[in-house]
Amino acid sequence: MTISKSGWIYELAILGRVTWSLHSLNNEGQIGNVMEPRSLMLADGTATDGISGEMLKHIHAAAVWALEDHKEKFCAGCRVLDPMRANLNTNVTQTKTVEEATDRALSDCQLCDLHGFMVQRPTVHRISTIQFGWAVGLPQATHTSIHQHARHAVGERGRSAARVTQEGSPEDETDVPGTARAVRSSATQMLYSRPTRSGTYALVSLFQPWRIGLNTVTYRYVEGLDRRARYRLALQAYQTMFWRTDGAMTATRLPHLEAFEGVLVIARRNVPVPVLSPVNEEYRSGIERLVKTHKGAMESLAFDDIQGFVSALQALAASEPYALSIPVGESE
Ligand SMILES: [Zn+2]
Repeated sequence: MTISKSGWIYELAILGRVTWSLHSLNNEGQIGNVMEPRSLMLADGTATDGISGEMLKHIHAAAVWALEDHKEKFCAGCRVLDPMRANLNTNVTQTKTVEEATDRALSDCQLCDLHGFMVQRPTVHRISTIQFGWAVGLPQATHTSIHQHARHAVGERGRSAARVTQEGSPEDETDVPGTARAVRSSATQMLYSRPTRSGTYALVSLFQPWRIGLNTVTYRYVEGLDRRARYRLALQAYQTMFWRTDGAMTATRLPHLEAFEGVLVIARRNVPVPVLSPVNEEYRSGIERLVKTHKGAMESLAFDDIQGFVSALQALAASEPYALSIPVGESE
């Protein structure tokens, strides 16, 4: 299927399967010196690997920040990527009403507008216009291995080097292939374990351009905002977050992107887009059938690689974020 070159865009769903190899994008936490990977349970009771929506959303927000040349378009909190966002914006916290606070937060900052915020006083929150579910490892296509590494103590390495070279090459911060050597050099090494994962992950994301600039207390759009620029920035951030994915432990486990396929679902008017899980093999044909039930209001576009994904999003940049039309004042 194809998409129109222009028109309104109410919502966009990105449903896909991405293959990342040899990464450690998201972990449960550290137990002793062992890092535990994330673990999920599916509806049928299968345990599998996953990457949290929090992590994916954080990666998207960081891409929004990186792609904006003019950091003054962010509030004081978002300029330094502080997760407190609008709560650190004194223009917001000095207002007296939630209506005013929301207006101010949206007009001061495009990241607060796109990714949402929570302000303590006055107490108001805004739901993100960009949402991510867990990226779920397909159980038959996900593998985890645990590698042990050693970090040598400064000043001790020279003394132990002679012993190490008898066994093999000297190491700095290295893998430890066998425990015998690890025990022998334990006086000079800190040993730790790290997971490395490879797999194909099902991912779901929803973007709601109709809510950009919308004060969801008054249900009026804040005047003077460039909604289109914010929309385009969010689309660009989707592109870069998948062509090079940031996350945890990328200093030593920068993910290998091997494949990315999926489907974009686009609502041209006020129809909430369907979100089918790519855990199910038939998700693309399922979407196609649903889109046909609202011909003219919805479109879908399948992509088979990262290049197809990027060019589809670039084509969507010509669309305009949908605006609700709600009469102001009391009804008769
Ligand atoms: Zn902000």
